[in-house]
Amino acid sequence: MKTPLKRALSLLLCLALALGFAACAPQETAVSPTPDAAEGSDAPALYTPGTYTASAAGNNGTVTVAVTFTETAISAVEVTAHSETPGIGDAAIEQIPGAIVGGQTLAVDAVSGATNTSNAILDAVEDCVEQAGGDVAALKAAAAEEPASNETTELSAGVVVVGGGGAGLTAAIAAAQEGAEVILIEKAGVLGGNTIMSGGGLNTADPVRQGSTEMSESMRNQLAGYLEYDPAGFGDFAAELETLKTQIQEYLDSGETYLFDSPELHMIQSYEGSKRTGLDGTVVTPDHDLLATLCNQTLPTCEWLETLGVQFKDTLSTAVGALWQRTHDVEGGASALIATLEESAEAQGVTILTQTRGTEILMEDGRAVGVRAEDASGNEVLLHAGSGVVLATGGFASNAEMVMEYNNYWPDLSATMPCDGAAGCTGDGIVMAQAAGANLVGMGFIQILPICTVDGQAIRGTQNKIYVNQEGVRFVNENDERDKLVTAILGQTGGRMYAIGDATQYELQGEEKLNALIEKGYACVADTIEDLAAQMESLFGVDAEAFLKTVANYNSYVDAQEDPEFGRYNFIGKIEEAPFVAIMEAPALHHTMGGVQIDTETRVLNAEGAAIPGLYAAGEVTGGIHAGNRLGGNAVADAMTFGRIAGQSAANGK
Ligand SMILES: Cc1cc2nc3c(=O)[nH]c(=O)nc-3n(C[C@H](O)[C@H](O)[C@H](O)COP(=O)(O)OP(=O)(O)OC[C@H]3O[C@@H](n4cnc5c(N)ncnc54)[C@H](O)[C@@H]3O)c2cc1C
Repeated sequence: MKTPLKRALSLLLCLALALGFAACAPQETAVSPTPDAAEGSDAPALYTPGTYTASAAGNNGTVTVAVTFTETAISAVEVTAHSETPGIGDAAIEQIPGAIVGGQTLAVDAVSGATNTSNAILDAVEDCVEQAGGDVAALKAAAAEEPASNETTELSAGVVVVGGGGAGLTAAIAAAQEGAEVILIEKAGVLGGNTIMSGGGLNTADPVRQGSTEMSESMRNQLAGYLEYDPAGFGDFAAELETLKTQIQEYLDSGETYLFDSPELHMIQSYEGSKRTGLDGTVVTPDHDLLATLCNQTLPTCEWLETLGVQFKDTLSTAVGALWQRTHDVEGGASALIATLEESAEAQGVTILTQTRGTEILMEDGRAVGVRAEDASGNEVLLHAGSGVVLATGGFASNAEMVMEYNNYWPDLSATMPCDGAAGCTGDGIVMAQAAGANLVGMGFIQILPICTVDGQAIRGTQNKIYVNQEGVRFVNENDERDKLVTAILGQTGGRMYAIGDATQYELQGEEKLNALIEKGYACVADTIEDLAAQMESLFGVDAEAFLKTVANYNSYVDAQEDPEFGRYNFIGKIEEAPFVAIMEAPALHHTMGGVQIDTETRVLNAEGAAIPGLYAAGEVTGGIHAGNRLGGNAVADAMTFGRIAGQSAANGK
């Protein structure tokens, strides 16, 4: 069962009960149980009674509320319309109205992990209070804070998991399936971390899905190119390159036309795509055994996820920077993925404590034996782990200070570059593990996502799109690795670009999302490419004539299956089917490749390469797998695959 340790809402309800109020449930419509509580009293009128509505900007668009007032109370708050992300906004929509009504206050803490939705509700309710003639300042001052009790709560389990994103949830489920009692703590008010914000795309070679997909001519040519590769440039992966060459030759000789893939191609592309040189000259490459585990174990992990109820689409995509069409997208997206994992964890009897922040790994004689944590009020929570502690706290891209301290890749990284990820990804697990003696690897390599709004919201994208600059011309192979795209974009006028797509892009984003982007001045949509060009010129100052020529040129490259300008090979189709879409995009901090060093059983290693007994880690908190540049779609695969292994290892005390 999921329980916020900060029981602010419960406290408000208790207060209400103590005052003779009946409890109000934390649901979409929060209704004061005693709308006429002051009836018959001499209390002065505070509001003009009635129901008022107002809207405010949330995360994905407008959030609308209806607030009902009696003369003396806010009697009901209802969120009547919104397009917030399921699994993220829900917690705010459930909790904030209840907290306002229960406490008769606007001094309500945002639900961590759902800050934008919380603030939108609070702003819209504030507007309604003004409309009803209420005293906003007084309501904002009327805090209903839960004081710290200074009590310590102690709980015990076989396995304690810190972090409730993809890696944490899969670890918890896998550990429970091995028969362990499991407690999972999550510092935010909602589960999911970066995983729920992700596209949910996961890379794996998959003979079934790829076997029923045709390979384009340009990809066949790209594949044949690997036959020319020299193993000498592939370090530990020379043997896999030789195997890959044999596989490719056999495939080409067979005359088959299905989409070729193999764990070895996945490995070689991941190696090539992530071998990088740091600003200080350090060359990083992926850890051989970890990458091999990832590429060989992700398909069985997908099959395991399917047994939990996760459904993958039949058609494969290519996540931005994935380099090959092997991205498996979850039906219903990342919200559905996390919801399914949460349900599965609960069904396995995992105890989930939200708003509970791990602060220290408890060590005894060199062994991890538990976690010190605190609830939202600062009360201590001691979690004892009989078998193992799993760190699954994600990366540190939301910690600007840490990013700037470790950055060893981007020459002019701005400390104010926005981050598109969850606010909770602040590197806590890395700091805790380091204090317990863990070695850190690859910390200087920070990934920046090329396709975000200028205020740092990640934009999903199909492959069927091109990028043009302020001058209306293409400037890069849109399928290149992410760091190369970012470098190219930052070199354009204004450090931004416009992603141009057609009907496939429109469908992927959805009307609601596009309307929210249009409202913010970040996008335009048109029924003809000429109209899109005209809108781009008037809205963004992009040269319409040059833009139209760019689109026509690109469409001719698709026909020829060859891009003479930038060498793009992964064509999906032309930009030709209405409606047409242009979205202004810019880079934002996204992912951190470095972290805690682990072995293939996810045991955390110290500087001498020895495992720290009882301590395991999985997901973005770890380093070594993605070296200097993670391929798109490899991180969710990493979190799920190593999360599952971590749960098994911790439960069995490996
Ligand atoms: C916008 C976006 C889109 C992405 N899309 C993709 C994609 O399509 N494919 C792909 O492969 N990768 C994608 N990624 C990257 C990928 O989502 C992440 O790398 C991966 O999901 C990380 O999983 P995780 O479980 O390790 O961490 P997370 O999912 O981030 O979970 C970590 C959790 O730990 C919690 N936590 C942190 N510190 C503490 C503490 N002290 N105590 C308790 N809890 C704590 C956090 O609040 C968080 O909930 C995307 C990332 C972003 C930001």
